[in-house]
Parts: sequence; C-alpha cells; structure tokens
Amino acid sequence: MIKVAKFGGSSVANAKQFKKVRKIIREDASRKVVVVSACGKEAGDDHKITDLLYLCEAHIRYGVSWEEIFSMIENRYRSIKEDLNLNVDLETEFAKIRSLMKPDTPTDYLVSRGEYLTALCMAEYLGFEFADAADVIAYQYDGEIDMVRTQQLLQEKCQDGKGIVVPGFYGALPNGVIKVMSRGGSDITGAVLANVMDADVYENWTDVSGFFVADPRIIHNPMQIPRINYSELREMSYMGANILHDDAVFPVREKNIPINVRNTNDPENHGTMILCDCSELDEKDPPHPITGITGRKDFTVITLVKSHTSGEVGYLRKLLAIFEEFHISIESVPVTVDTFSVIVSTESIDRCVYEIAARIRTELKPDDLRVEDHVALVAIVGRGMKEVPGMSGQLLSEFGRNKINIKVISQTSDELCIVVGVMNRDFDKAIKCVYDRFIATEKRKNA
Ligand code: ASP
Repeated sequence: MIKVAKFGGSSVANAKQFKKVRKIIREDASRKVVVVSACGKEAGDDHKITDLLYLCEAHIRYGVSWEEIFSMIENRYRSIKEDLNLNVDLETEFAKIRSLMKPDTPTDYLVSRGEYLTALCMAEYLGFEFADAADVIAYQYDGEIDMVRTQQLLQEKCQDGKGIVVPGFYGALPNGVIKVMSRGGSDITGAVLANVMDADVYENWTDVSGFFVADPRIIHNPMQIPRINYSELREMSYMGANILHDDAVFPVREKNIPINVRNTNDPENHGTMILCDCSELDEKDPPHPITGITGRKDFTVITLVKSHTSGEVGYLRKLLAIFEEFHISIESVPVTVDTFSVIVSTESIDRCVYEIAARIRTELKPDDLRVEDHVALVAIVGRGMKEVPGMSGQLLSEFGRNKINIKVISQTSDELCIVVGVMNRDFDKAIKCVYDRFIATEKRKNA
C-alpha cells in the first residue's frame, strides 16, 4: 500500500502546522511520498510565501528594493527552524537565493523557492529524504510533463524504501531550467507523483474537511460530501467549488486512483473521497440524489428572437461563429423554436458586447435582440438524480414557491447536472431553498 500525501500552504504555515503534519505521517506508514506547498498564511492578515516571492520578483523588475520583503520570507523559515530545532542550513540557501535576485534570473526559479525551502525543512523534520522537484518532475519543452521520465527519476529516489518529501508547484525542463505550474499547482505535483508511483490513494490535505454540499459562506454548517465521482467533481469545480486544482484530476483519473481530500486540522474526519466510479459503494449505501449545489454569478444572456428560423439550416452556427471570432467562451445555449439565448460570463464579454450586438443585428437580422446582465447560474449536481422522475419538477416548483424567477434552465441527457439561471440578487436564496428542501429536511428526518 502506498499513499501520496500533499499538504497545502495552510497545512505547513508554521511550526504548529508542521507538528500536525508529522503526526499524520507517523500514523500511517504507507504515507511514503509527501508533497508540500510553500508556507501559506498563518493568520488572516499575513501573506503566502509564494505571493511574497512574486512581489520580490516585481520589485527586481522595476528596480525597487526587494530586501524588506525577502527578510519577511527568511524570518518565517527561521522561526520554523528554531521552533522545531532543525539543523537545515537555511542561511546558505538564503544567500544563494539572494545572489540570484537579479533582473536576468527567471521568474519561475525565484517563485519556486517557497516550496523548495518548505520541503527542505519538512524532510528533516519527518526524517525523510529531500527530493528536489527539479530532479523528479520532468517537463518536456512543449510544457507537458514527461510521465515516463518522471517515473524513472522518482524510482531512483525511492530505492532505499525511505520516505521522500518533494516540493510542489515546479519541475525542470530537459536543460535543467525550472518551470512552475499555474497557481495552486502543488495539487498537480501530488497527482503526477500518485500516477507514476501507482499509489493506492492520493491524499490532499488542506484546511477543510473535503467538499460540502453547499458553500459554507451561504449555508451555515452544510453537510459534508462523503464521496463524489470525477464527473461530479468537474461540474462542481467548474461551477465554483474550488478546493482542488482543476488539472489535478487528470493524472489520477487516468489510473483510477482515488483522491481523498482531508483536513490537517481535523485528521479524524474522513474527508471526501473522489472516485472514478462510486457505484460499488453506492449499492451498499445509496447516495443522496443531490451531491452538491453550487454556482457562479455575473453572467450575461444575449437573446435573439427571429421568427421562422426553425427550417433554416446554419442559423445557430452563424450566431456562435460571431462569439468565436471575439474569443468568447460560451457557457450555455438554451434554444426554443424562434428564440436563441447565448450565456457567457460578463467579464469575458464586457469589452466587446456592443460590437457583438451590432454584428448580430447586421448579419442575422433578428426581430428582437436583448442583452441582460447580472445573471447567476445555480448548478444542482448529483449522480443520484439519474432516472429519478420528477426531480427537476420538484426543483423548479421550489424556486416558484420561494418567488425566485427562473431565467433559463438546462440539463444534459446524462442527468448529472441541472443548471438554473436566476438573477444575481436571488443567488444565495436559490441555493438556500434547494438545500433546505432537499438536504436539510432529510438531515432532520435522519437525526
Ligand atoms: N505555492 C503555490 C501557490 O501559492 C502553489 C501551491 O500552493 O499549490 O500558488
């Protein structure tokens, strides 16, 4: 049994958090590969180390002194070293980074130092081997990770059976130059290592106990989701529930490796299990029809009415081609006989909405054209909704009972997700009413 355990920034923010990590690692000998982010925020008002490094880099670029910011970084690591009685030679590491604080040093090198330093400290504290991500995560020149090479490199590092600590967020190109992932990328490092190690589980330790049925900022104390499949997770994350980096799913999905999202501050909680296929467990313990309720605000709906288009081939294509020309990604396209709505994020269309409207008018000659902002999309996601008759009916009547006007509705035939468009001002209310009607009442029944 082998587990890859990734600890996010808040899990390694200070010595107190390091102690929690060691306790977790010592409780399970199969946690052999540990990935760490750079130290995150200790309290609400301080900073993530990676943010400070990006700030140093900007100061170098503009020729402004970066010394004060870098001292803040050094002091965070010095206090971890002191509090945990470590021997790691941080001063030499700091001197090396300082000597490279120059305009011609690549940004990726500088901003990756948070993970590097955190992993150095963590390796000593756990009594594990430090494996620099530059020696383990192999990038190709096209920016893709070379999984075969990464596997070889990792196997060499793991030969003596001792645990290893790998810094997240970066790897190296074939010429040794460091390349970072997108922000939050340590999740990807963990997933890649889980793939090449053929891990049994990829544990992602963070500061929440996995996924909740709804956003805790909207629903007080919402129910936790015990298990979810990859497709539901994609829907949930795309529509706003962001715990895991989007790209962290692909490397583990490829090998059917479950992801377990856990809370470093509440290790007794089993968190959320993300599985390729939940059906076996669902048979013993049927899931709730609704896995999660999520959504996003600030969409724009462009609606055009044109009579007698139903027989006209290519009308919709011409409409969508205009959006493509402006590089606007489309969220949804609800269509009725003579009416077409195109839903896009307001942010993406703000800069060119008048030009698009003008093009539609001249090229498609609609009888009517309307542009509406401030629309929110509420997504009700659940593998258990499949073939439950009346599900959308019950949902819609709940909106009606709560006097929430529905602007658009869409559901694909896999029945995994029902998306309802409401006005921004009704967004919280919409989520609350679905939660109260379908989740909270059941929670009360079972209590
Ligand atoms: N430290 C990086 C960031 O803040 C990567 C990570 O934490 O996953 O984006």
